[in-house]
Amino acid sequence: MSSVRPMRTDVTTRIDASWVITPEGPVADASVVVADGAIAWVGATSAAPLADEVVDCSWGLLAPGLVDAHTHLGLSWSKALGPTTGHPVYDVFWPRESSLDHDLVKAFAMSSAAEALLAGTTCVADHYFFADASAEATTAVGIRSFVGETMATRYVPHHGRASIERGIDFVERHRSTHLVHPALAPHALDTMGAEALSEVAAEARRLGVPLHMHVAQSDREVADVQAEYGCGPVEKLAEIGVLDQPLLAAHAMHASEGELDLLARSPSVSTVYCPTVHAGLGRSLPAARLRLIGGNVALGTDAVPTQRRKLASEARAAVICQQVLTGDAGALSLLDAFEMATAGGAAAIGLANQIGTIEVGKRADVVAHRLDQPAMAPFTDPVEVWTCSGPDQVHSVWVDGRRVVEDGHLVLVDEGSIARSAQAARAKLFLRN
Ligand SMILES: [Zn+2]
Repeated sequence: MSSVRPMRTDVTTRIDASWVITPEGPVADASVVVADGAIAWVGATSAAPLADEVVDCSWGLLAPGLVDAHTHLGLSWSKALGPTTGHPVYDVFWPRESSLDHDLVKAFAMSSAAEALLAGTTCVADHYFFADASAEATTAVGIRSFVGETMATRYVPHHGRASIERGIDFVERHRSTHLVHPALAPHALDTMGAEALSEVAAEARRLGVPLHMHVAQSDREVADVQAEYGCGPVEKLAEIGVLDQPLLAAHAMHASEGELDLLARSPSVSTVYCPTVHAGLGRSLPAARLRLIGGNVALGTDAVPTQRRKLASEARAAVICQQVLTGDAGALSLLDAFEMATAGGAAAIGLANQIGTIEVGKRADVVAHRLDQPAMAPFTDPVEVWTCSGPDQVHSVWVDGRRVVEDGHLVLVDEGSIARSAQAARAKLFLRN
């Protein structure tokens, strides 16, 4: 770990790289100037203005930080399970999640947030119990977060009216927390019921925050909703007006064709594709088709025992899975996947004007990836080679202009202590049940 340094907002920083990925495409031998946490200038290094400090990344590629649009950071304990049987959510997670508390969730969320940051993710959209623990963890490691407290009225651990009140209270308390963007996070339609969900949706409109929820994520959810309401989950969401307000809809891989059209035709709705998790459950969201018919699709890592928080790997998996699903090698390009992992994710959480691309005026959430490594060479297109990057290639990460990863290590927190705390928390949780 590097020594901990206070945040400086009065210093301008110029980052010089061999490539900078801008919305217009990659620019060779280019620089980005950061001032007051924002991107103040982008262009050829030969024409770059002077700055108080210059960071030499001429060995690498400067890309926008990734936006992981669906995470459960506090669920990183499931990595310790190994192979499991049954449905991960209903049969594996829920029985143990009832034993969680704030401190355990914080320890797990710290390891997960650190893993994401070290892999080049600069913003996570988190949905879990004890949301304060998630906000504390993301703040500690220095990653931006979009956070909501998991709410449910039945089945889910920690459910009940109190979960709705906690979720609303969380939003009200974190309206101005630096780098934490609060949301309301109902679990799903089957675990909320339409009445309570309508109430939460009204609260989201009152508070001016998006909804983040699971939509058509399992056969069981679809069957329960069909039995209770006589239609599919997306159809019911449309009926009660939830598709008419900002909604981050995770998964939808069990939505019908007609329901995918409903999602695509709702401009305030974004769908989150989690390729590895979907593949592990034997499904794939038809992400390429959803984009083709006008939907915004973001990428997420979600959480299952075999999952890791490496969004660039998910981008590559998305391309491969869409090829398998459609039989068309060009169904989803690496460039499409890059857009989904950056600007698409930013739009999905309502931060399109602030993050997701490297352009003047946006917050400086940027990542320097090493190109001088065997895993990254040879390459033709610097955007495409980005999907080969991971923790071994991520050299530096800036979030809101603050350098939070340097030389491949966290700047603000000791990595060893994060790992030890997560391991101790695992032992405690597994003793409980
Ligand atoms: Zn999920």
